[in-house]
Amino acid sequence: MSQLTPILSAHWDEKDSFTIDAYTRHGGYTASKKALAMDPDAVIQLVKDSGLRGRGGAGFPTGMKWGFIPQGDNKDHYLVVNADESEPGTCKDMPLLMANPHVLIEGCIIACHAIRAKHAFIYIRGEVTHIARRLNQAIEDAYKAGHLGNGIDVVLHIGAGAYICGEETALLDSLEGFRGQPRLRPPFPAIAGLYARPTVVNNVESISAVPAIINNGAEWYQAMGTEKSKGATLYSLSGHVKNPGQFEAPLGITLREILELSGGIRQGHTLKFWTPGGSSTPIFTAEHLDVPLDYEGVAAAGSMLGTKALQIFDETTCVVRAVLRWTEFYKHESCGKCTPCREGTWWLVQLLRDLEAGKGTEADLAKLLDLCENIMGRSFCALGDGATSSITSSIKYFRNEYIAHITNGGCPFDPVASTLFVGAGA
Ligand code: SF4
Repeated sequence: MSQLTPILSAHWDEKDSFTIDAYTRHGGYTASKKALAMDPDAVIQLVKDSGLRGRGGAGFPTGMKWGFIPQGDNKDHYLVVNADESEPGTCKDMPLLMANPHVLIEGCIIACHAIRAKHAFIYIRGEVTHIARRLNQAIEDAYKAGHLGNGIDVVLHIGAGAYICGEETALLDSLEGFRGQPRLRPPFPAIAGLYARPTVVNNVESISAVPAIINNGAEWYQAMGTEKSKGATLYSLSGHVKNPGQFEAPLGITLREILELSGGIRQGHTLKFWTPGGSSTPIFTAEHLDVPLDYEGVAAAGSMLGTKALQIFDETTCVVRAVLRWTEFYKHESCGKCTPCREGTWWLVQLLRDLEAGKGTEADLAKLLDLCENIMGRSFCALGDGATSSITSSIKYFRNEYIAHITNGGCPFDPVASTLFVGAGA
């Protein structure tokens, strides 16, 4: 069985874990000293060798991304950290920043050195005021201690609270002061990103993983995880479980193992469905308990690892209602730039509301799938595709439950006793 592997979360249980004193006490800021003494290309190579892949959802190799930045071009380069965590169910970056903001700052110093950038911008979502304050204090303390301000500066930017600003090019537009909407690519940020300069955009967890890699070496990191998904990562477990929270484990652990290590489903109940990577990833059921939670394993089973947000729903949950709530979120957060998503998500909600209220028909169910087909692959960015994931997958596994809403003229669900809809539908 895989074990929980606290690296990033190693000292979260200490009262002062977020302070510079605690971070230094545990060896903090030694990795940046080591990295600053290395040739930048050697740092990039080490991160490449470690096999670290982006933890924000796409899983792109971090070292390779850094290697795309053109060198010797006499242009300013930028590092932008995506801390706009707002996918329903995803709660790993915010707890990490709350418990240990200095690991991100140290990661920024190392990454800036590697890509020859003098400035790092951390873009954090607007609603998390308490975390922004904590991070601000940490940045101030890092300046006072001389870790920042010697050729590398870190600026914290607080967004206005739009989910779309987690899309890297929308984030860059927002950071530049424009309305946050995705940009047409190419050019990619590595060539023309922030202020049209070569830019690396990385997730909080990706950058925070770097100091330990510098200190312990690529082989140490490579030894964890699976063949193509190296290292350990933060899984956020929420919903109908005994102990919700963040669990750090090697990539490739299964949900069954995480549940065993964390206390399991709440007592007296059974697993009905779950998301492997947040609400934009196709749902899984109990039959997927042994799927390895790495990039390849989850994809082979028909979903995506995404942000590793494991939202757990037991047999008391109406899947139609859960999917409706997620879809309302995507309709609300659609930035409006492209028609399939702007109009499509609105129609998805109308149809789902009717179906959930028992006013829908089987023709509506067919229309719902037709709409999803027309949004999927035709939207400008991944938000449109993501909005359809829970709908198509829930109909695949729980079609009977949708039909029961139609035939019963409303939700047939008895939230206390029913186990009617556990398992795959027709
Ligand atoms: Fe905006 Fe949605 Fe189109 Fe993305 S898919 S550009 S969020 S309207």
